[in-house]
Amino acid sequence: MSFPEASPRRFKRAILKLSGEALREPGSTDNISPEIVERIAREVRDALAPGDLQLGIVVGGGNFWRGAAASARGMDRATADYMGMLATVMNSLAIQGSLEHHGVSCVVQSAIEMKNVADTFIRRKAERHLDQGRVVIFAAGTGSPFFSTDTTAALRASEMGADVVFKATMVDGVYDSDPKKNPSAKRYARVNFHECISQQLKVMDSTAFSLCMDNHIPIVVFDLAPGGNVTRALRGEPIGTVVSSEETVVA
Ligand code: UDP
Repeated sequence: MSFPEASPRRFKRAILKLSGEALREPGSTDNISPEIVERIAREVRDALAPGDLQLGIVVGGGNFWRGAAASARGMDRATADYMGMLATVMNSLAIQGSLEHHGVSCVVQSAIEMKNVADTFIRRKAERHLDQGRVVIFAAGTGSPFFSTDTTAALRASEMGADVVFKATMVDGVYDSDPKKNPSAKRYARVNFHECISQQLKVMDSTAFSLCMDNHIPIVVFDLAPGGNVTRALRGEPIGTVVSSEETVVA
């Protein structure tokens, strides 16, 4: 997809990736902050109000559990990864509850069957929900260990024919070096997929990144923290950094 500079950009179908960590209040021992979930839900509702955007949401599980970290401490990796996928289901249910509270019609589809709490992921059903204006929350990652929820977002975006992946993070975009270590690090307004690889810029893990690049799906990396950013991003306002096949531009 080409990314016009003119604002706002128009998307028909998008995937929003939220990290699990983003649902936790910094410094709190609660894994999920209902207030943060509520704010995100409100911002999603505002973004969807005009009725011209279809949205899927993928949420991580890092606020509860990460398989790789547990495996580094001696646990069987596949078992630890299944636990991580279950963690994403808890986050998905929290987001579903809050979206519904705000009048947004939505369904949770889980890649691991758990009929009592969520529908099972079926691609064609998910597409129909999107077509009918429901938000689909894709829970339990890809359903397979050794993957991440970034990869889930890239995979669901590819199979749903989404125009874009929005990656909501703790930083305001992609930089040419670590802004925490280098005060003169430059933020990109746009950065080319290949440049990310050659400069080893971390946008997503390599599997997720390759899927987006190969399927020509731009990634918008933006900061979740400032109020209104989710709405701004989903409405196509220039925000964060766009990773795409277009030429690189420093912000
Ligand atoms: N996970 C997995 N397969 C998937 C997606 C996730 O095994 O397709 C597991 C993995 O252990 C991962 C955990 O679920 O560490 C939580 O996901 P992730 O680390 O992507 O969450 P985030 O960092 O976005 O909160």
